[in-house]
Amino acid sequence: MKLLLHICCAVCLAAPIKKLKDEGCCITGYFYNPNIHPFLEFRRRIKALKVLHECEPFPVVYDEKYGLNEYLGKIEFGKNNRCHTCYELRLEACAEYAKANGFDAFTTTLLFSKHQNHKKIKLLGYEIEKKTGITFAYYDYRYLSDESSEIVKRRMIYKQSYCGCIFSEYERYKDTNRHLYKGNEIKSAIVGNNDGNTAIN
Ligand code: SF4
Repeated sequence: MKLLLHICCAVCLAAPIKKLKDEGCCITGYFYNPNIHPFLEFRRRIKALKVLHECEPFPVVYDEKYGLNEYLGKIEFGKNNRCHTCYELRLEACAEYAKANGFDAFTTTLLFSKHQNHKKIKLLGYEIEKKTGITFAYYDYRYLSDESSEIVKRRMIYKQSYCGCIFSEYERYKDTNRHLYKGNEIKSAIVGNNDGNTAIN
């Protein structure tokens, strides 16, 4: 089967790619994720995938256009359904690319993540199959997620700490102390530095 695999990130791909290859699928990857913000984070995740890709060679199509405007243009502000729209955006693009380029089926590494809404992604996949006429190949490799984490750790590949969009970044860090102003610590740093050019980050 000629399968187009939407890739959300290196971490979700790391262990399942071996499984898919073992099953005899002829896989092409498709990186398309306008939901990843900000720009340097987007670059970091592409770089992580390329590093993994060096050890696991197979054809991958990279869409490296930063999609902040595209993503924000699709989601509905103030409504609580952004993940549905985000999944749909990426799965539809994958299915359309598969259809236009002679693939037998499409799927996504989003199905391999313990952090995503697996049921919603599965349902959307089958809906898009009906709409586009391209087979949705369903897999559940969530049980490989610890192995994937081990692989990226061993290879020193960047592992993200939030889902992707600016909203998820806020949700991830809003209850932490990261980058909070800590007056006393900064004062002692300034006292210890006599060059008059202290940079506070
Ligand atoms: S939290 Fe993740 S899946 Fe949901 S909209 Fe943001 S990037 Fe997309």
